[in-house]
Amino acid sequence: MNEDLIIGIDLGTTNSLVGVVDSGFPLILADEDGERLTPSVVTYLKDGSAVTGREAVRLRKLEPERTISSVKRFIGRPFDQISTDQIAASDYKIQPASIGIEIPLSETQTTSPIEVSAEILRRLKTVAETALGHKVSRAVVTVPAYFSNSQREATKSAAESAGLTVERVLNEPTAAALAYGLDKLDEQQTVAVYDLGGGTFDLSILQMKEGLFEVVSTAGDTQLGGDDLDLVIAKEIQRRLKLDELTTSESSRIRVAACEAKESLSSSDTHLIRLPFFRGNESFETEISQSEIEAIMLPVIERTRSICRRAFAEAQNKGVDSIDHLILVGGSTRIPLVRRSLEEWFEIIPNLSQHPDEAVALGAAIQAGILCGRVREVLLVDVTPLSLGIETFGGLMNVIIPRNSTIPAKAGEMFTNAVANQEIIAIRVLQGEREMARDNWLLGEIEIPFQPGPKGNVRVGVQFEIDHNGILEVLSRNTATDEDHILKIESSAVDVDDSSVERMVSESIDHAFDDMNERIWTEARMKSEELLPAVESALELVGSKLPEDELAEIHEAAALVKGILTSDLKDVPALKQANDTLDEATQTLAALLVEAAFK
Ligand code: ADP
Ligand code: MG
Repeated sequence: MNEDLIIGIDLGTTNSLVGVVDSGFPLILADEDGERLTPSVVTYLKDGSAVTGREAVRLRKLEPERTISSVKRFIGRPFDQISTDQIAASDYKIQPASIGIEIPLSETQTTSPIEVSAEILRRLKTVAETALGHKVSRAVVTVPAYFSNSQREATKSAAESAGLTVERVLNEPTAAALAYGLDKLDEQQTVAVYDLGGGTFDLSILQMKEGLFEVVSTAGDTQLGGDDLDLVIAKEIQRRLKLDELTTSESSRIRVAACEAKESLSSSDTHLIRLPFFRGNESFETEISQSEIEAIMLPVIERTRSICRRAFAEAQNKGVDSIDHLILVGGSTRIPLVRRSLEEWFEIIPNLSQHPDEAVALGAAIQAGILCGRVREVLLVDVTPLSLGIETFGGLMNVIIPRNSTIPAKAGEMFTNAVANQEIIAIRVLQGEREMARDNWLLGEIEIPFQPGPKGNVRVGVQFEIDHNGILEVLSRNTATDEDHILKIESSAVDVDDSSVERMVSESIDHAFDDMNERIWTEARMKSEELLPAVESALELVGSKLPEDELAEIHEAAALVKGILTSDLKDVPALKQANDTLDEATQTLAALLVEAAFK
């Protein structure tokens, strides 16, 4: 059971958290000091060892160039995409590497954004293992919706090098919406999630309906957040102190002071910035008010406005008027100016029900809980990952609900008995993309008994229905008696992990040619198997009325069909040809049979 447990991780630019679902409740795990936020900061000591989290924040003053923070801004990106501003804003050096970016620590020591992220993830894994009392190895990790594929891949490899298998990479706003929506599954709402953290900004619009979360549109900026506010405030401090050139450690100290001022002014009117012994014996002090700091921050916060507009515009017919709630998450949404600006721009009172720091991690924990079967009610997946169908005569897959159908979904088909006097029809419910039933996954089976009758006489209607919970219900109805048989298949209809889906789809592509051949062969074989006994019984009844040469022709054609059928070659064109020949050779025979029937 413990091995199956999946943890949810919010790997943030500034802070990271880890959570799980326990007894049905998502919760954030605390470390040995009772802290739930782990600063995404790593200090590399001279002996090569790494220190992560609050300890690294403390070491930043002593080792600014060996203390790596906000590395998420660089992960999975090529060096030439990083702006000079960003390089200048960073305490530590970054340089191009053969792949991506390298962070030199000394003449001989280097690290990389992936390695730094791996350190943070390793720390979160330890926090979880200590809190839970057992090992964990599987995780859901969140990323900004705006992350490119290579940024997602890089995040995944960081997790792998920390000893975690990534079961899903989840978009942060989707995670936040999950946390918000978990207790509102019966409601239908359109929500926007405004996430302003330390380094990234996202606005996503999601539609919640019957426990289903659908991302309608998303827009964002991977280079916009609290760090940028710190930077503009730091510039203001530097201006006030009339300091032209700053050493690395000086600019780092000013930025820390700027961040403190920003955070304190979210809840007070004035703040005294103090920089004792800043240069030698020189100390500096300057007081800053909330309105002053707001004027400095406004241009940065304004940048989120056009991104919101873009997301609203991209969500068809989902102008701001159709948004039921604008949910705020991310530490920077504690800033009163952010809340006021949103009210002013969009005439909507922001929803503050979510914990700004924890919502994303909670959502990751919920998604993890869904994947390991600890949460059943919610579904993020809005499409069927694989086709659903039943096995038909000859072992073929007959698709009823194709792959990527949106759920809830409903579809059906009518089937008849393949042979005379059959007493049951077995409905085998399958999932997969292969042509032959045996290559797909068997989800369940039900046998429908009925009164024996001639071939094609019994009609059974089969209907597949997937509800919004992903539960597949297969209803089979015997049309003669109107008797229904219901087979319920819990969860597996939609709840398939990504890697199995990928495997199934790629196998179906790999085998496409062979599979298709086998399907055609099976179809031709079924035709032969139908034809041969029919010819046999017709010959018995009216064969004596045929001229010798015609009889010989029929026997020869039938023998040819039998020969190809029993050969291992599976020669599809030859079998089709032989079937046609037999069909033609028996034209007179068939006519005689009809005549005999009317006598
Ligand atoms: P991320 O998701 O990028 O890791 P978080 O959501 O943890 O970021 O937010 C971190 C940011 O929130 C930092 O820039 C921090 O300064 C800012 N922040 C935290 N608390 C406050 C506050 N009270 N007022 C203003 N900003 C805050
Ligand atoms: Mg965040």
